[in-house]
Amino acid sequence: MFGHINLEGVKGVLIDLDNTLYPYLPNHQRSMEICLIHCEKKYGIPGAQFTDIFKQSRSDVHRDLHGQAASHSRLLYFLKFSESFFGKTNPVFALEMEELYWSEFLSGMMFNPGAEEFLKEMSFRGIGSCLVTDLTTHIQMRKWNVLNLGRYIDFMVSSEEAGIEKPAPGIFEMALKKLKLEAKDVIMLGDSEEKDIKGAEALGIRAYLIR
Ligand SMILES: [Mg+2]
Repeated sequence: MFGHINLEGVKGVLIDLDNTLYPYLPNHQRSMEICLIHCEKKYGIPGAQFTDIFKQSRSDVHRDLHGQAASHSRLLYFLKFSESFFGKTNPVFALEMEELYWSEFLSGMMFNPGAEEFLKEMSFRGIGSCLVTDLTTHIQMRKWNVLNLGRYIDFMVSSEEAGIEKPAPGIFEMALKKLKLEAKDVIMLGDSEEKDIKGAEALGIRAYLIR
């Protein structure tokens, strides 16, 4: 997955986190399964109803907060879920479900094949690096800690911190500023053609798609 990246002459690496350094889907699916079982046992919410309410809540949050970090907030998904199911905001439920979702997710996180070897090589060469990631800072820092990314990566910019999501230039520009580097000195790695590759290339940053 990382074998095609040329680090010759590169002074800095911008790198996406979700689905680039680790696989997103298996962790998400496990978390959803755990949440569904928990809701069935503790609140008597049938599985099919859980799935329907969750999908509707998530799509409402996506619609209301499109392009912002909080559009991916599990806390907001479960807040809307609680309002739909209980008929009013239930912070105990929303916080409980958010923590259940993320603790399960984090417990299974492992590097994608070749990712850690790439990061080692990058840091061995003394190349500066910055995560450029769409989501809220708190959870991205928890993921950073699980993967112990501080061994290899110098900085992080979340879309919450930048106030805008990829592919907008602002988030990439904040990463360049933290690294004190220019677009021509860095490369971008990510799994999304739309967000990572086109976003970086619009600023003249060479980008590699990670499949
Ligand atoms: Mg990604």
